[in-house]
Amino acid sequence: MSLKVIFLGTGAAYPSPHRGASCVVLQNDGDSWVFDCGEGSQTQLMKSCVKPGKISKIFISHLHGDHLFGLPGLLCTISMNNARKAPVEIYGPEGLCKYIRTCLNLSRSLLEFNFTVCELKVLENQLAEDLKDWVVDHSSLSEKSHPNENPKSLIYPDSNQIWSLFENETTFVKAVSLKHRIPSFAFVIEEKPLPGKLNAQLLSNKGIPPGPVYKELKSGMKITSPSGEVICPEDVLGPPIKGRKVVIAGDSCDSKELLKIGQNCHLLVHEATLSDDMFEQALQNGHSTPSQVGQLALELGASHLVLTHFSQRYQVLSPEESTQSKNSGKDKISVKVILEDILKSVGDNLIKVELAEDFKVVDVKRQDFGQNV
Ligand SMILES: [Zn+2]
Ligand SMILES: [Zn+2]
Repeated sequence: MSLKVIFLGTGAAYPSPHRGASCVVLQNDGDSWVFDCGEGSQTQLMKSCVKPGKISKIFISHLHGDHLFGLPGLLCTISMNNARKAPVEIYGPEGLCKYIRTCLNLSRSLLEFNFTVCELKVLENQLAEDLKDWVVDHSSLSEKSHPNENPKSLIYPDSNQIWSLFENETTFVKAVSLKHRIPSFAFVIEEKPLPGKLNAQLLSNKGIPPGPVYKELKSGMKITSPSGEVICPEDVLGPPIKGRKVVIAGDSCDSKELLKIGQNCHLLVHEATLSDDMFEQALQNGHSTPSQVGQLALELGASHLVLTHFSQRYQVLSPEESTQSKNSGKDKISVKVILEDILKSVGDNLIKVELAEDFKVVDVKRQDFGQNV
């Protein structure tokens, strides 16, 4: 089963000609889940291999515009292309439902599909001090619901401050909070373990040829051999195959909560908005620098780290170009500085490190230990 992460927008703050605003798609055998949806994401989507009608879930890390302003447009684009009739689930912080309702109601936008908003209950400790000076009502109770809207739900965290969003036969999704200027979340998507390999030789010795019974054993059922022996799955199955774990984090200057559920992830997607020499400014704006994320990735034991959400001050320049381009003015800095910072941070540790760029596709492998690139 293939699991791919497709970067549709890798820039911070606003979309530029070179980098779209935040948007990542997780593709699992044709089903697509969108993580964040900054302005212009629908255009990026149309330029990519992602089919709009396959989008079944959308996760919004926080309500800043560069992660959210594209959502109403994306929903309308999916609808206008008549691409989808099945419902779409949308997860994100409290206030998300009000935003969607207001945008779609005021623009009188009807959709061809229904949607359900599942809001993550925001805790008091997620609110920065200055949020209390400008109080905004995140409740949607006073707004009339949209005609395509299913009843919304509110997801509370458990006593360990972990939000459980979703679970099906193969996968579950959880979230933890991040430190940012407004409540922000990281999503952890984890596949359930697969049954181990069947010992075909052993089964053959017991007189059981390949057939539907193999499936029964893999699904955990006991079977009886022609000689009357009862065979339990654990007698003929190898150890379970570990599922893949992907972490996609929103904006953050402190992601230590991820240590609770992000350990040993196969892929960590995290912002590194500014380079290490701008640490103070990054912290002030609630963002991370490469060395902070490198440290986190090592603490998590991540196999593969992809940095994204780069300040638009960093140009998409080839690595051959100098970090300070001579011909293009002092503000034009290559994103290479971010790469240099992260490589320095992870050192010789066995972790694959890359910078995201728009339309980059990353295959999530079960074993992804590799060399820095
Ligand atoms: Zn952002
Ligand atoms: Zn933000």
